[in-house]
Amino acid sequence: MGKLNGDTLVLNRSWMAVQICSVKRAISLLYQGHARVVDTEDFRTYNFEDWSEVSQQLVQVDENDFICSPTLSIRIPRVIVLMLYDRLPKRHVRFSRKNIFERDKWQCQYCGIKPSNKKDALSWMKSNVLNLDHVVPRARGGKTTWENVVASCYKCNSKKGSKTLKELGWKLKKEPNKPRWHPTLNIPLKVVPHKEWVSFLDLAYWNTELENDNDNIG
Ligand SMILES: [Zn+2]
Repeated sequence: MGKLNGDTLVLNRSWMAVQICSVKRAISLLYQGHARVVDTEDFRTYNFEDWSEVSQQLVQVDENDFICSPTLSIRIPRVIVLMLYDRLPKRHVRFSRKNIFERDKWQCQYCGIKPSNKKDALSWMKSNVLNLDHVVPRARGGKTTWENVVASCYKCNSKKGSKTLKELGWKLKKEPNKPRWHPTLNIPLKVVPHKEWVSFLDLAYWNTELENDNDNIG
């Protein structure tokens, strides 16, 4: 059932694209009442039963758009909208260089310096003007975790070395912790966006988020 591994765009209750899940997951969320299918032509939403019923009427349209099994014949939901905020599917927030920068708003957590726009931010990242730093240095037992790694400018980074904040008399701009939510919708490059998603995605986004997100943290 390759179709079940296809991709469905997930919107939150404010109709913002927040995630991509498998078609299988989407149908399961739909079935459990945690999400509704969005008809991408007229933006009406359907629960599982209504969607199944509508699907029956369309079943002859295009076979590729349907999941058919002995017990189920349903049009593939390409976009779903979540019904309950606290029922968001759990997901792993990737502990990556870029996500830490996003969390820290691209600002050095020691001196507060930050790029003036996203374009500068990316070039700061590439040229290591903005870097990552272990708050409690690794040499002093500091771990590589959301709680102990922050964005730091090159200057602060080298000044800090393996000293602690206390020794330097420095303060963090903000207490670092694990983001509760992915800072931005991260579409893996292998995912080909469906035409039905276009209304929900900012096209500019597609042109700016092609950064490799898997850099190892030093
Ligand atoms: Zn700094």
